[in-house]
Amino acid sequence: LTAAEEDVLETIEAENIDFLRLQFTDILGTVKNVSVPARQAEKAFTEGIYFDGSSIEGFVRIQESDMRLKPDPDTFAVLPWKQREDGASARMICDVINTSTGEPFEGDPRRVLKNALERANDLGYTVNAAPEPEFFMFEEDEAGRATTDTADHGGYFDLAPKDLASDVRRDIIYGLEDMGFEIEASHHEVARGQYEINFEYDDALSTADNVATFRTVVRAIAAEHDLHATFMPKPIPKINGSGMHTHLSLFTEDGENAFHDEDDEFDLSEEAHAFTAGILEHAPAITAIANPTVNSYKRLVPGYEAPVYVAWSDRNRSALVRKPAARVPAASRIELRSPDPSCNPYLALAVMIHAGLDGIERDLECPAPVRENIYEFDEQKREEYGIDTLPSNLGEAVEALEADEVIYSALGEHVGPKFVEAKEQEFEDYLVDVSEWELDRYLETF
Ligand code: GLN
Ligand code: MG
Ligand code: MG
Ligand code: MG
Repeated sequence: LTAAEEDVLETIEAENIDFLRLQFTDILGTVKNVSVPARQAEKAFTEGIYFDGSSIEGFVRIQESDMRLKPDPDTFAVLPWKQREDGASARMICDVINTSTGEPFEGDPRRVLKNALERANDLGYTVNAAPEPEFFMFEEDEAGRATTDTADHGGYFDLAPKDLASDVRRDIIYGLEDMGFEIEASHHEVARGQYEINFEYDDALSTADNVATFRTVVRAIAAEHDLHATFMPKPIPKINGSGMHTHLSLFTEDGENAFHDEDDEFDLSEEAHAFTAGILEHAPAITAIANPTVNSYKRLVPGYEAPVYVAWSDRNRSALVRKPAARVPAASRIELRSPDPSCNPYLALAVMIHAGLDGIERDLECPAPVRENIYEFDEQKREEYGIDTLPSNLGEAVEALEADEVIYSALGEHVGPKFVEAKEQEFEDYLVDVSEWELDRYLETF
């Protein structure tokens, strides 16, 4: 056993942990877990825990279904929410191993991200990332099902008592801190019932793990207060949706921020500009991964602080990429504003990183920043500035993904085709459905 693994065994003993949840995510980003008695922890480290991968979304074909979970001891955390009936539980996030080859399973999203990080390492970089997940909390009905009602009448940065859910948010923050999160800020978002919690930046792999954990903790603690927390991108029409802005920077091996250059007008290095150019070039394909639901595209419309146009800016928030003001050199970074919290954080970070590295490797030229409000541009003006539009629905986004060799191959031979297949089906289901809107509009008119 490694020292980190020994530490985990000691903590299990000291904290009286009864159950261990071994977690991983499927291609769609849903957290899966296998619960084992905590006394199996040592075996989990030495032999791994076997499971049948054929029942996991997009994992394997039935004939080759044996998978093994290899827990990552760095991700050990005691679960904060109440579940005393079954004793205290802890979790570890796992890598998935293909038992027939003994190699990491290429269909594991965590593996896809690790591949992206290896590419960055080969170029001499480590990747830092920080997400800004937004979410809504809604009341439940008598049957305990989620509604879209909120008891809260607060707005951006409002304080209690207008912000009725602030004590729920406090419990969420305590829960996250118990699990090792460093919370930077938490505030009421623009919409009624909408919140944002920002956590400290970290290396990209830890950040992806953190997003997966974050969504689980937020939902579990909201549920303890009889509220339903949702990361659905646009639960209510005509008000802001929920995004997950993602901040990115590259660091060199000696811990310097490779994105910082104080001689540049924007404090950004050539690498940062080329990385941005790569993101802009691959933006349509990234959208399929960072905005992977039918509903994601109800958010990406003009007027609600979500990006629609492929441009960058050091000022306005209608652009796809923003350069936030940095107080210290280490904080120079870019912010991609399209991702939403329904995405698989491993795949989303992987494709953003590959896109940016492609920009660096090909030394792509970054266009000039756009400082005006692009929502107000007409088509002619957008053409004049050479500004493209993001895909307008999931179907278009998936087509863009398949057409983009760099991004599609970044997903690997397993995840790429499975993702496309699942999303084409999802879009097809949506197209043949008859919605509430259609009934309201047409049922009595015709
Ligand atoms: N909710 C907005 C979005 O959909 C972002 C609002 C903000 O953080 N300024 O991206
Ligand atoms: Mg924010
Ligand atoms: Mg926000
Ligand atoms: Mg932001």
